[in-house]
Amino acid sequence: MYRLTRKRREIFSTALALIAAACLTVVVAFVTSRISERLFLDEIRTRADASLAVQAATLERQLDKFRLLPPLLAQRPDVRALISRGSRVDGERVASVVAAMSGAQEVVFLDMSGRTIASSAWPSQGPHSAGMQTFDTAFSEAMEGRLGRQLLRGDALRAGSYVFASAVRSGGETVGAVAVRVDLASVEQAWALSKDPLVALDDGGVVVVTNRPSWRGRRMVETTRGVEYADATSGSPSSIFLDARLRSGFDIVQLDDGAIRLDALRLTKPLTVLGWEVSTLANTQIARSQTSKAWIIAALVCILLAGTGWAALERRKATIRKMRDDRAAALRLERRVRERTQDLSEANKLLAREVEEREAAEAELRLAQAELVQAAKLATLGRMSAALSHEFNQPLAAIRSNAENAQLLLERKMQDKAAGNLEKIIAMVERMAEISRTLKGFTRRAGTELKPVRLITVIDEALMLLSPRIKRSDVEIIVDKDAGDPVVLGGRVRLEQVVLNLISNALDAVGGRTSAKVGISLKVEGGFALIEVADNGPGVSEELRSQVFDPFFTTKDVGEGLGLGLSIAYKIVHDFSGNLSVTTSQDGGALFTVRLPLEGESRAAAE
Ligand code: ADP
Repeated sequence: MYRLTRKRREIFSTALALIAAACLTVVVAFVTSRISERLFLDEIRTRADASLAVQAATLERQLDKFRLLPPLLAQRPDVRALISRGSRVDGERVASVVAAMSGAQEVVFLDMSGRTIASSAWPSQGPHSAGMQTFDTAFSEAMEGRLGRQLLRGDALRAGSYVFASAVRSGGETVGAVAVRVDLASVEQAWALSKDPLVALDDGGVVVVTNRPSWRGRRMVETTRGVEYADATSGSPSSIFLDARLRSGFDIVQLDDGAIRLDALRLTKPLTVLGWEVSTLANTQIARSQTSKAWIIAALVCILLAGTGWAALERRKATIRKMRDDRAAALRLERRVRERTQDLSEANKLLAREVEEREAAEAELRLAQAELVQAAKLATLGRMSAALSHEFNQPLAAIRSNAENAQLLLERKMQDKAAGNLEKIIAMVERMAEISRTLKGFTRRAGTELKPVRLITVIDEALMLLSPRIKRSDVEIIVDKDAGDPVVLGGRVRLEQVVLNLISNALDAVGGRTSAKVGISLKVEGGFALIEVADNGPGVSEELRSQVFDPFFTTKDVGEGLGLGLSIAYKIVHDFSGNLSVTTSQDGGALFTVRLPLEGESRAAAE
């Protein structure tokens, strides 16, 4: 919901910004175009103004140059004389000389009635030549004593001319007049250099001098914003129309001469002496094209600026968005860290409590263990004392009865029989001493002194000790000592005890069997010496294998075994850094293996 509104708001603001940018672009472009138009028009005006001043001066100069020529000629005596006389020949000569010298188009001498006495043009054209215009206006003005002036309008083919005339007096009387015709073509030639149309209009608004020959003699009609324009155009096709459209303080007119139509900047300068008006119509086409260029450039610049601004704005927005996101992420992270820290401290507390509980449990366990150890010790002691009491009670009872018997027999003087009883007593005592020795061996601390012991000797002596028993039994003893003469570090007597115990157990196991066999072999394997005692008796079952080395474990009948033999052997072998294990022999009986590390040299020899 929030997102949607935000999105909508973004679209709205984007549209608003676009509209604003477009409006601004139009305004800027418009203002720029107006300014540039004004600047260009200004430039055109300056140029046209200068040109107009020069061209108007050209016209004024041309006319000024001849304005004083008729009064001056009227002062000349020869002129007075020839006019008084009405001499055509003299008149033509003088007129031709003056015309040639002054550059006037024509110099004419007139009599009192206004008739031409002589003209500088006659020698070539003859009197009454075609197109010859009368100077009546100028003549009558001269006769009134003023400087006569008269414009002779031109047409599309011929440039116009201007006439100055002055009365000629002789002896206080007016005898005639002298007129000078000035050609306006030379002015038009000078004006032709100007690119823009230049016109001199007489007081009737007719073009008298111009650099556009086709306009010569045509009327210039002024209309305003199209008003009267249509009527005027339809009415007088020979007119030139100027539709005034004042713009930005400039006098802009739309010019229509029937052939071309263009917008022009009009500048006017009055020629007060003549009552004329000189105008230049500077083409504003260049201003307009430059203005539209400026318009386009301004619009482009605006679009570019708007685009740049837009991009910058977007970048800023993105930066702000990113900063906001970053801040949100940082806050989220901070919150998570806070939560995690809280979790962790709670976990820590839990752990500390658990550690405390564990320590308490451990303490309890240690206590229980100690109690268990104590209980186990007590149990072992109980078992041991039961076995020992049984072992000792039996011979003690026998000793007692034999002693009593011996006492009775001695009282009856039957020494021989008493001696037999005493022998039995001795045998019993011997047995008890043996039991006692066994116990002593069990309890004796492991000797710290280790010596090199030859295992061959150990096996030989054990067999020798057992030889009476072996002889009595019907058991086949197979000895294999061909593997060399391995030496280990240990105690010879204790190792003999181990081997003796293993062989004695094997003899027990095969006792009463037919083809009973006990094998003793000595091997070297890696850095170890191996004594293997195998038999073909019942073997030791898997379940019992973990128990046979426990003290007081026995399967033998009461009085036959204490269950200490294997546990003592195990202890002795481990004291010598070896180990004792039981598996099944080839014949299905038990196979006891004593594994002892070889003594240094022996090991070297073996390797
Ligand atoms: P004891 O000989 O006094 O019983 P031991 O520690 O020497 O004590 O032996 C423990 C038990 O291990 C024996 O009671 C017997 O069950 C078993 N045992 C030992 N050697 C052999 C063997 N070679 N064959 C089968 N059982 C054996």
